[in-house]
Amino acid sequence: MNRLFFQPHQAGLSKVQAAEYTLRNINPDVLFEVHNYNITTVENFQHFMDRISNGGLEEGKPVDLVLSCVDNFEARMAINTACNELGQTWMESGVSENAVSGHIQLIIPGESACFACAPPLVVAANIDEKTLKREGVCAASLPTTMGVVAGILVQNVLKFLLNFGTVSFYLGYNAMQDFFPTMSMKPNPQCDDRNCRKQQEEYKKKVAALPKPEVVQEEEEIIHEDNEWGIELVSEVSEEELKNSSGPVPDLPEGITVAYTIPEKQEDSVAEVTVEDSGESLEDLMAKMKNM
Ligand SMILES: [Zn+2]
Repeated sequence: MNRLFFQPHQAGLSKVQAAEYTLRNINPDVLFEVHNYNITTVENFQHFMDRISNGGLEEGKPVDLVLSCVDNFEARMAINTACNELGQTWMESGVSENAVSGHIQLIIPGESACFACAPPLVVAANIDEKTLKREGVCAASLPTTMGVVAGILVQNVLKFLLNFGTVSFYLGYNAMQDFFPTMSMKPNPQCDDRNCRKQQEEYKKKVAALPKPEVVQEEEEIIHEDNEWGIELVSEVSEEELKNSSGPVPDLPEGITVAYTIPEKQEDSVAEVTVEDSGESLEDLMAKMKNM
């Protein structure tokens, strides 16, 4: 976080304070509640749990989502423990120490693997560590990798909260090869966290109680066609334009297509018609115009 918004004039402020000031400046309409403490101590952990359960938009209601942007294993485990106990959905994010890979992970207690179900997943960076780090030198830091992972995290948050697109359970980022592996992982029935095991039982019951899904082909419903912000989706190319364009499509790998093609030139197009040569010189024409 400090690599993304910490500014020189904020020297001396904690990351938490600097984050609040920067974000408040960007959008003064957002309400912030800040707590600057270590969540791994017993006392703070209780308060942390309490704010997850009661710090929603409406006081006394749980929050919608917890985002983990911490830089150490203990803090991640503390978030994992709290969310398993409360059945709170959360998203984990991280950048590797060598700064050339990162990941985001959505954890729905009981439904997807928690942080204690399996060893933390990392994206193979396929790089010789010796070329990146030297003994006694501070760990590598790339604000760009941080920025990409932060962007992916927030994109997943929007899809999750606003219910559009495919929400990723795990999305990795390998900066060396621009490779974005995705996967999802079921929870481990032998997870060390007893609250994870409890949430798994409850999830199984919930799924069993669901009515059997009927196999009916339905037209996809358009979500948020009317919205209070007046946001509209406008296609930059109309269907008609796409049909009319008949230019050659280049050979492209699977999954990539062209936004539009350049129409074939037509014989009678305006550009093809040349002005008939009247034989008059430029001087003659200028004289004619003056007399008009
Ligand atoms: Zn677990």
